[in-house]
Amino acid sequence: MVNVFHGPSVALKILLYPMVTAAGLKRLQGQPSRFSFAFSTEELDAVVKAVQAAGCGVELLPAELLPQASYHEGRRQYRCLPVLDAARKKLSHAGGIRDKLLLLTDADLYEVGMNFTGGMAELGGHVAIVSAARFQSGDREKFVGRLLKECLHELGHLLGLEHCRDRDCVMFLSRSIADSDIKAGNFCGKCRSLLGRALG
Ligand SMILES: [Zn+2]
Ligand SMILES: [Zn+2]
Repeated sequence: MVNVFHGPSVALKILLYPMVTAAGLKRLQGQPSRFSFAFSTEELDAVVKAVQAAGCGVELLPAELLPQASYHEGRRQYRCLPVLDAARKKLSHAGGIRDKLLLLTDADLYEVGMNFTGGMAELGGHVAIVSAARFQSGDREKFVGRLLKECLHELGHLLGLEHCRDRDCVMFLSRSIADSDIKAGNFCGKCRSLLGRALG
């Protein structure tokens, strides 16, 4: 039920929603995985902490499988928009009116006209997604670092932030993994104050 008396005193909450492949689900259940881009519950916890450190309340939703209809057999990738649509339905059941959904997946995503996409967000909207599939690295710390930066980047977009010119800022537009690795993993002073205002 929607409570029409929700006022500005209601804290904004990020619903962190792992929507994963079958292999990704096994990894979250504690089984080892040969896929280095499948994340563990500990790595998911690191994302929760990073989002909290950015000043947001977080609720971790139970992990679910990606909708099979979003899978493209020929490309061996999942299409982004149907996944976001499925997530939006989830939000209408699980969330409050101010809540925002940050999806996290191990699947490689694409959208029409793109080879792949590492993440997508509605600017100032309700739903964003981050894919870990291209962050793979033999170095686990590096993998998690990339994941956290991309999550904070899409979170920033969800809260209305646009790209930033500061190469150290997580809101800088990374055009490659190397770009992402250069970023410090935090919001610059300017973006941080914009974020503070958005969280009000
Ligand atoms: Zn961006
Ligand atoms: Zn910035």
